[in-house]
Amino acid sequence: MKIWKSLLAKKLVCPAYRPARADPSRMEVFRAMHEQIRLEYRIKMKSLGWQLLDSGVPIENSLFKGRIDDLFTNGSKVLVVEYVSSLFPRADKLYDTALSTAFLRFENGVDAEGAVFSREEITQVPNFLIDQTWKMVKSLPKLLNLNNEGLLEFANPESGLCSYCDNGQCKRNPENH
Ligand code: SF4
Repeated sequence: MKIWKSLLAKKLVCPAYRPARADPSRMEVFRAMHEQIRLEYRIKMKSLGWQLLDSGVPIENSLFKGRIDDLFTNGSKVLVVEYVSSLFPRADKLYDTALSTAFLRFENGVDAEGAVFSREEITQVPNFLIDQTWKMVKSLPKLLNLNNEGLLEFANPESGLCSYCDNGQCKRNPENH
């Protein structure tokens, strides 16, 4: 079964992570903030000479599926952009963007670069992270097929995800304290 790209990105940070059920009204607040950031940066990118190529671009392969927020071009290269409403991107958002960029590069032959646009800054995703993420993803299906007990051997309390995690068997889950 295919996994959502955003969930796969979180599993690269903590393989045992399980998404907690979202509060719909809070989700709408996050969505509004996300779209606000998108519009602000679109205006900025246009003033810098970048052209919006496409938006909400669906991508899918044998392992994952998802969307790319926006694709820009300056005539010579393509920039993959994912937006976050926080001040700075978390590690999983960098992985998410690395996955999108690697997909275009290695499965579609596009000369793409990736960046996360957050409230405070633009974070370029380094090439080595894009390459390494793609290598890791190739070996991941084996890991993701482990049962929860097996996955918990790889639990990562440094992930920054524990507050949003629903893995009730993890001793690092705040719900268990
Ligand atoms: S509580 Fe934290 S360490 Fe445990 S599975 Fe969830 S994200 Fe990973």
